[in-house]
Amino acid sequence: SPSRGLGDVYKRQGGGGGAQLEQLDFVRVRMHSWEFETEWKAGDGVGESDRLPGIFAGYERCGSRLMAFAMIAAFESFDLLRTLAIPDVVFASLLDAIERSYYDSVPYHCLLHAVDAMHSTFWLLRHGGVDEGLGKEHIFAMLFAAICHDISHPGKNNAFCVQSRAHLALLYNDRSVLENMHASTTIRLLSRPEFEPHLLGKLSADEGKAVRETVIESILATDMAVHFDNLGKFSAQQSQGFDLARAAERNLKLSTLVHLADVATPSKTWGAYKRWLPRLFQEFFDQGDIELAKGLPVAPFMDRRVPAPAKSQIGFCQFIVQPLFDAVSATVPQLEAKLENVETSLHFLKLWAELGPIPWPDAEPGAPAAEPPGAPVHAGVDEASGRPAIFWHAGKEALVTRVPGTVVPIVGMNELMPAPAAPGPATPNATRLLGGDKAGGPRPVSYTHLRAHETDS
Ligand code: AMP
Ligand code: ZN
Repeated sequence: SPSRGLGDVYKRQGGGGGAQLEQLDFVRVRMHSWEFETEWKAGDGVGESDRLPGIFAGYERCGSRLMAFAMIAAFESFDLLRTLAIPDVVFASLLDAIERSYYDSVPYHCLLHAVDAMHSTFWLLRHGGVDEGLGKEHIFAMLFAAICHDISHPGKNNAFCVQSRAHLALLYNDRSVLENMHASTTIRLLSRPEFEPHLLGKLSADEGKAVRETVIESILATDMAVHFDNLGKFSAQQSQGFDLARAAERNLKLSTLVHLADVATPSKTWGAYKRWLPRLFQEFFDQGDIELAKGLPVAPFMDRRVPAPAKSQIGFCQFIVQPLFDAVSATVPQLEAKLENVETSLHFLKLWAELGPIPWPDAEPGAPAAEPPGAPVHAGVDEASGRPAIFWHAGKEALVTRVPGTVVPIVGMNELMPAPAAPGPATPNATRLLGGDKAGGPRPVSYTHLRAHETDS
């Protein structure tokens, strides 16, 4: 029940009514299943009572409260609030702050993806035996790193930031630009005056340093550009065993696990995996459209004129996911069984690739046929706003999950995340945060860390 030291968190989430209690219990039970199912059926992956598979059923049931419920379930499972003496109200406003820092408008790198990665991380800790030999502060760091690992993601990738000479790329020297931003934003969040004394401030200097290191290393390791390097280091260390008392070895292990949790969608059910794909490719193709319109180079997998989602996912499964799971399952044997799910996903992807690029496997019946590959992207000026825009044709409906006729503004990184004009308050005020005025006002600027960066110290 929510009385396990989480009463305030639960009440802040609108608790007290039976509906919320049911939602929390729904999440609590499914957190212990890798597939986020109560009944796992091979193939379609849909549990008997769920209309949607896996994490999508959680989202349908709880909406954006899913994040708080999943964090509550994970934290209560490890009794973290009590052992780390984190007050309910502090935990509740921390969750609010995280929730506000993801963009709803980003199709793939949104709060739901963060919950998905955090849930997988939780499962590895709780059911993969990863919690053995770890202190409470390391478990906290991993869960926190996972839920924050894509914080304020703009829906554009590192190459886009670098090619478009974004402020963010200048700040981080073109290296792991987004991951540096996610990590810095996360540590800044923990360091805010309303959180610091209750979290890092309460730990010993060594423990605080360990938490920061694990959070930073884990988030930086989610950059696909360091995947092969890190996997090589992980495998080399694994053959000698990990000494968890040594920070470097511990962080290598934990960061590899958060990375695995980040790319684990093909190892869930095909039903859930295939629902991530239109989101992923909508984000990719949107970026490709803007690159084309701006005359920047476009990666083939982001070019909607030559769509090959099945082929690119087969590559992703075979070259990234399977070797990663193979390597890690020597340390976490429970993962071996999940490779069967990847095989199932590959089976369906290969069928899909043979059948042709379209439609998406979960396209609604009666969805209009997609335009043939090679159709040019139509760029022009949006009459309503007078701004350059890309016009979305109804004919592309089956290719991505976008409303026909939508106008997509052509925006670069600096418009998405402008550089700070003048020094402003470094942190949102605590009263407003604690008041939880989520509905009122615009979404907070996700770029506050930069402003803080320039005005701090
Ligand atoms: P992240 O951006 O932290 O979520 O790291 C995962 C990256 O791997 C994504 O940004 C994609 O570029 C790439 N990727 C390709 N296919 C997938 C997939 N099915 N699931 C997750 N990531 C994928
Ligand atoms: Zn991610």
